[in-house]
Amino acid sequence: MSTPALDPQADWDRIYVDGEWRDAASGETIPVENPAKQEVFTEVPAGTEADVDAAYEAAEAAQSDWAATPREERNEIVQNLLDELNAHVEEITGLLATEAGTPGYRAMGEFATTTGDVEMALELEPPEEEVRPSPSVEGKDNHIVHEPVGVVGVISPWNFPLHLTMRAVAPAIALGNTVVLKPATDTPITGGLLIAKLCEAAGVPDGVLNVVTGRGSDIGDRIAGHPTPRVVSFTGSTAVGKGVAEQAGASLALPALELGGNAPFIVTDEADLEKAARAGAFGSFFHQGQVCISINRHLVHEDLYDEYVDLLVEHAESLTVGDPSENDDVTFGPVQNETQRDDLVDFIEGSLEAGATLETGGEADGLFVEPTVLSDCTNDMPTACNEHFGPVAPVIPFSDDEEAIELANDTEYGLSASVFCEDAERARNLADRVEAGMVHINDQPINEDHNAPFGGVKQSGLGRYHGEWITRELTEPKWISVQDEERDYFVFE
Ligand code: NAP
Repeated sequence: MSTPALDPQADWDRIYVDGEWRDAASGETIPVENPAKQEVFTEVPAGTEADVDAAYEAAEAAQSDWAATPREERNEIVQNLLDELNAHVEEITGLLATEAGTPGYRAMGEFATTTGDVEMALELEPPEEEVRPSPSVEGKDNHIVHEPVGVVGVISPWNFPLHLTMRAVAPAIALGNTVVLKPATDTPITGGLLIAKLCEAAGVPDGVLNVVTGRGSDIGDRIAGHPTPRVVSFTGSTAVGKGVAEQAGASLALPALELGGNAPFIVTDEADLEKAARAGAFGSFFHQGQVCISINRHLVHEDLYDEYVDLLVEHAESLTVGDPSENDDVTFGPVQNETQRDDLVDFIEGSLEAGATLETGGEADGLFVEPTVLSDCTNDMPTACNEHFGPVAPVIPFSDDEEAIELANDTEYGLSASVFCEDAERARNLADRVEAGMVHINDQPINEDHNAPFGGVKQSGLGRYHGEWITRELTEPKWISVQDEERDYFVFE
């Protein structure tokens, strides 16, 4: 195995197709910025539709050999990928800090979740071949086997670029599929080219993973709507995801969609207040709130409301703000880009105009948006009814469980949610009634475990990651029947 160069100054100016590093057909590049400094640190190729076509052609050509490679051999290569990740932890977490504004402790968390993605992929087992006697035809055995779906298109976002890409790529490859990957334009390295370098070093055969960087507005439709993939795995916003589903559907590819969220965090009058406020602060301010399963709304019982707001403010003001690419002790970094910042400022201003009270924060400097707590909020204020995707905590009071559930479910999304309550039966009853794919009792909603299904209901997506759920999405059952005795066709002697 050769040692790939993985620092921000390494070469990142070529796409990876059929095991080769190539210039994009356009010859053009896109600058990549460190969000804390708002300075360009490298350039990546601006891929074109021709590059996407070449990538799918390579993936299709490589697929049958890869599927026919015995599982143990494929796993040796996936194990090499895991070893490559572990051998480069410092460079990888450094790249996350530089490219994604990721504080050190969070970069380590993302790294650990990513190695967990690969470890899980090594364990995935399609159902074993099963033989069932035909219930309708004598002397026939029905064999049910599971095959890889074929080629998988993967489109990933910038907020957890390494993990959210790897949680699709590793299972796809381990199960015998080949992949064409388009990372987000804000994080083309940690979400794409870095993974290509690690796969190359791990000995992943040519064409099994292909990475085309480029703007979604230029190549997204081609990635999603290409006739080759059988599954298009998309993680990103609901608006873009719906377009991806349309494109994929037109080619009869299965859209696997992990989309936006608006997590409610319900704090009942039977909550342990201090624990709830600590969890609430983590769930709002972790990675500057740029997590699809962050707390979007704090729904707090009126009896605890004032004290809860005070504690949340204390936690918000205790964060160490700074540039994660320069200081490991930073606990709060920048948001990813100007659109994020401008949307957040608009949401905060709109909520204040609608009657919210600013308890702390509210200002932006460069791409640093202050950890912000807003009280006197209602569910229809901009910070509450939109997926704000930032370090903003609108706190909304409620008077009983009925009202809490009504408020929690009053959103188009249904990804993650939380309930804080010391009475286990009441907590479970509330969790059962929240419309979400994932509900966490006495914890905040940012959780992901490889043995539990990850995904949402309503406008938050279709399908689930991890374990048997992703295995079902990335393999297809096939029926092979064997007629052992001559069959009676009635009309023919
Ligand atoms: P986004 O704008 O939807 O972008 C996601 C990906 O789609 C990027 O690679 C983007 O490329 C690409 N894209 C853009 N236009 C496209 C098109 N027309 N066709 C195909 N692909 C296209 O989302 P984001 O801003 O990166 O991420 C934030 C959103 O993702 C939030 O809504 C968040 O909740 C959601 N998210 C969901 C989960 C989950 O597991 N449910 C996890 C993380 C994030 P460019 O970067 O080049 O535009």
